[in-house]
Amino acid sequence: MKDPFDPATRIQDMLHFDEFGGVNPAITDSSTFTFLDPETMSETFLGHTEGCFLYSRHWNPSNKFLADTLASMEDTESAWVTSSGMAAITCSILQCCRAGDHIITSVTTYGGTFAFLKNILPKYNIEATFVDITDLESVKSSIRQNTKLIYTESITNPLLQVSDISSLSAIARQNNLLLMVDNTFSPMIISPARLGADIVVHSLTKFINGKNDCVAGAICSTKKFIDDLSNVNDGTAMLLGPVLDPLRSSSILKNLHTLHIRMKQHGQNALYAATELKKLGLRVRYPGLHDHPQHDLLKRMMNKDYGYGGMLVVELPSLQSANEFMRIMQMEGVGYLAVSLGYFKTLFSNSGKSTSSEVPEDIQRSMGLTEGFVRFSIGLDNNMERSVEKMKACLRKLHLI
Ligand SMILES: *Cc1c(COP(=O)(O)O)cnc(C)c1O
Repeated sequence: MKDPFDPATRIQDMLHFDEFGGVNPAITDSSTFTFLDPETMSETFLGHTEGCFLYSRHWNPSNKFLADTLASMEDTESAWVTSSGMAAITCSILQCCRAGDHIITSVTTYGGTFAFLKNILPKYNIEATFVDITDLESVKSSIRQNTKLIYTESITNPLLQVSDISSLSAIARQNNLLLMVDNTFSPMIISPARLGADIVVHSLTKFINGKNDCVAGAICSTKKFIDDLSNVNDGTAMLLGPVLDPLRSSSILKNLHTLHIRMKQHGQNALYAATELKKLGLRVRYPGLHDHPQHDLLKRMMNKDYGYGGMLVVELPSLQSANEFMRIMQMEGVGYLAVSLGYFKTLFSNSGKSTSSEVPEDIQRSMGLTEGFVRFSIGLDNNMERSVEKMKACLRKLHLI
């Protein structure tokens, strides 16, 4: 019998044998590669040689090990790794679109993505319509003659809406569009390509690496799309040049092998914190809670056993109360007041004033990003009860509960 799909098993089954048999593949510390004969070199430039390395901005063996493992995790034919999540997003969008094209995007995306779509692409005559991605009718009614792409995040930043990837994919197919999904918040939990996404992008900086010691990204898609991205004549990844350093890709690959254990612990801790904070009467957003609007949708889409993710939102009555809460949580050792996510310690920030500050305030308010919005990335705490007790003590001190 065929095993059911499981992203962690996929990673486990990737065996890399290098020349000397090291259990971790040797790091290829070279920017350029020798050829035995000039003919092979010219064939490689034409993209006709499989498995030949030319120059590390194009491909590097260490990056290939990481890319192949990510492709296997996302169940795509191929993948490419980049020096940041933003590079993965911008190169993929620019590879798909040309002047005159139109994109439909979730209004709640990572702030950098929002800013790229709103402020950079119009310079090249590529226009974006921002919609509530959970409203499939508004997605459909935004489609135009020149629409090329639907863009979303599987779990959106920072509102934690869940995208209905299968339905978005059906809309994309019917209208001959591409569906691109940023899966940064939910690696292993959701497998967008299996639900019909054409391109899956990641910021590896977050859960996948999990150490906050580097910035990196990935693009997972068909072999054709990855070949196009790396084409020496018109590939955006090749020509814009956001190459990942092989030293970093080798360390990310090692961290990828513990991702499944970390995702389970992040999810278990976040569900516990969400449940306890909710009991106090606070406004809590967490996709694992029954009152989350897309809780049932997520349950239908998710892979088994990885939980509902490590991201959690508490909405306090004002900016001032949010700031006070974060200040004393840091003093009490709940975690760090810092942007980013997927770290082993809990991180928290006010999204409207940080990672979504690129979104104008009126749009923030209309999409439901309130002033006192505290976004948590829940850590790997071994004793989450103790951590939640500390959070409660901070709330009491500020008379918020
Ligand atoms: C952080 C983040 C990005 C950008 O990734 P970088 O690695 O910082 O460039 C994109 N999308 C989401 C959802 C993110 O959280």
